[in-house]
Amino acid sequence: MEGIFSTIRGASKRVTVAKRTVAEVLVNAKGHLTAEAITNSVQRLEPEVSPSTVYRILEEFEELKIVVHAHLGQAAAVYHLAGVVHGHLTCETCKRTFEIPAVHFDELSKDLQKVFGFQLDRHHVALSGTCAACQANVRKIL
Ligand SMILES: [Zn+2]
Ligand SMILES: [Zn+2]
Ligand SMILES: [Zn+2]
Repeated sequence: MEGIFSTIRGASKRVTVAKRTVAEVLVNAKGHLTAEAITNSVQRLEPEVSPSTVYRILEEFEELKIVVHAHLGQAAAVYHLAGVVHGHLTCETCKRTFEIPAVHFDELSKDLQKVFGFQLDRHHVALSGTCAACQANVRKIL
């Protein structure tokens, strides 16, 4: 929490009650939250904070690299604290998302940089497919 506040102050921005509450929700969050879910949790603690305030704060937090967002196949982007970079795999069948270490993208990353001069963002978008459990279920049915 203190690290987040010092980042905000370091950018000469104010630490408001709303920002404190968003930070608290993010720190206590397990996994990936949509802006809507973050707003609901924030409003449970501070009912007067509006959804648009939460969106603005998430934007500011992203600019300050406090949070990152990703797209996991649902319509809405999800947010979590910036930290260890990881990749996402989303199962098209059960809709579950799996976090995998970014190291699995290292080869691809290097290749894309070398061949196309393209820098891969390993976290931003999930790869889609079918998870091990769902593959096993299909095999059972057949
Ligand atoms: Zn995005
Ligand atoms: Zn993630
Ligand atoms: Zn699955």
